[in-house]
Amino acid sequence: MATVTEARRATRRALQTKLLIDGKWRDSLSGKTFDTVNPATEEVIAQVAEGDAADIDLAVKAARKAFDSGPWRKMDARDRGRLMNRFADLIEENVDELAELETLDNGKPIGESRHADLPLVIDCFRYYAGWADKISGQTVPIRGNFFCYTKREPIGVAGQIIPWNFPMLMVAWKWGPALAAGCTVVLKPAEQTPLSALRLGELALEAGFPAGVVNIVPGFGETAGAALVAHPGVDKIAFTGEGRTAQIIMRSAAETLKRITFELGGKSPNIVFADADLDAAIEGAVLGLYLNQGQCCCAGSRLFVQDSVYDQFVDRLATKVNDRKLGDPFDPTTQQGPQVDKAQFDKILSYIAKGREQGARCVAGGERHGDKGFFIKPTIFADVKDDMAIACDEIFGPVLSVIKFKEIDEVIERANTTDFGLAAAVWTRDIGKAHAVADRVRAGTVWVNCYDVFDAAAPFGGFKRSGIGRELGEKSLDNYTELKTVTVALD
Ligand code: NAD
Repeated sequence: MATVTEARRATRRALQTKLLIDGKWRDSLSGKTFDTVNPATEEVIAQVAEGDAADIDLAVKAARKAFDSGPWRKMDARDRGRLMNRFADLIEENVDELAELETLDNGKPIGESRHADLPLVIDCFRYYAGWADKISGQTVPIRGNFFCYTKREPIGVAGQIIPWNFPMLMVAWKWGPALAAGCTVVLKPAEQTPLSALRLGELALEAGFPAGVVNIVPGFGETAGAALVAHPGVDKIAFTGEGRTAQIIMRSAAETLKRITFELGGKSPNIVFADADLDAAIEGAVLGLYLNQGQCCCAGSRLFVQDSVYDQFVDRLATKVNDRKLGDPFDPTTQQGPQVDKAQFDKILSYIAKGREQGARCVAGGERHGDKGFFIKPTIFADVKDDMAIACDEIFGPVLSVIKFKEIDEVIERANTTDFGLAAAVWTRDIGKAHAVADRVRAGTVWVNCYDVFDAAAPFGGFKRSGIGRELGEKSLDNYTELKTVTVALD
């Protein structure tokens, strides 16, 4: 496995491992570092500067200064958009290197990094670059002899905390709307995958963002992340990750009444009716669950299949899944890489054990792959009951639960019996049935005869415990702007 990886690594430039604060790269004030690990080999890639409360304080002060009085504040919105486009161009110019870096640190197959993550990153920055000079208010016809209008102003300093599953794409989802709106940011990348965000920081400086507009402080959640949430100089927190972490953040953010947006987990239902194009539905079920090693918040991890086609569907799905190619994520033909770290690896294996204990039928995978790296075979459990742990909890790994259903009302009710509400999909040739499911499923995104279709223009986020607010699209700009009402007496 190491040959391709080593060859790639040998051609790469030196890794950026420091904190980006006020336009400069620096060590953490404590001098501490932490290891970031290649999940395919379990080898340490680099030691990264470990920021904590003192570094966060410096970063927030830099962001505050850049927002309150720096050149960023005075820059025309159109020039802000041009800068963002220049940044997107630089990402495109370095696309191969960035894709390799993502694969090295996260373990996702190079084909996905290069042809899914990176194009979405570039597109997201270009999309929001286009918004920079189009964020406008309204004139409001109020009573009396007054001229009343609204304007939308940047919210200020945004603290952004992101997970490890799409390290660069999460930066794009956070920085894109924040920068378009004219905010400044302090980003805390996930401790498992800090490298690609730091490289984006280098490209942001090269693009010409003024000092303090983007600041990056790698470190741990309980120290750097918590300090960012608690800091009185931060106006808004945007967080993607686990629900329990969101609860901690919400409690802390309440102290300073910060604005918050959350993008959390899911246990998304993927519903296949007997009248569907079953070939397409099988493709969709595989993509919907196994993309990114199953480490997707919107993974279609509860696959409901109508009883009349259930057995043949499970057989064909198992054949397809057993054919998936696992291994070196730098091999362009690899379809599945390792899980991100040992903690996730152990958690997923414990859920596989629970699935067996609780009586589900394992028809594919069900064990580790190889003896080095955090690889888990793509796993399918059939005959899963709604109350089994594998059908209720977010596993965040390549473990699919296939559940039998009889008819539409029943499946919608069962699909909604969860605290989550991030995404759902329905496969059918009956347009009425498709719309009925789309209407009644309690989820922020519904895909009809497709799965995992993302676009920077389409809002994304959760009902219920899957989140608060929406990212992407015009909607995300609301997260980074305050609405001001101005009333002028005309007499
Ligand atoms: P997490 O919520 O612990 O971490 C996400 C980010 O929050 C990281 O940057 C982390 O350092 C930071 N963080 C942790 N504790 C914090 C605190 N007290 N204050 C401020 N920031 C804090 O999630 P994780 O450990 O990366 O993954 C655990 C589980 O979360 C996964 O198994 C999965 O279920 C879920 N998850 C969901 C998503 C998603 O996109 N919805 C992404 C990753 C993980």
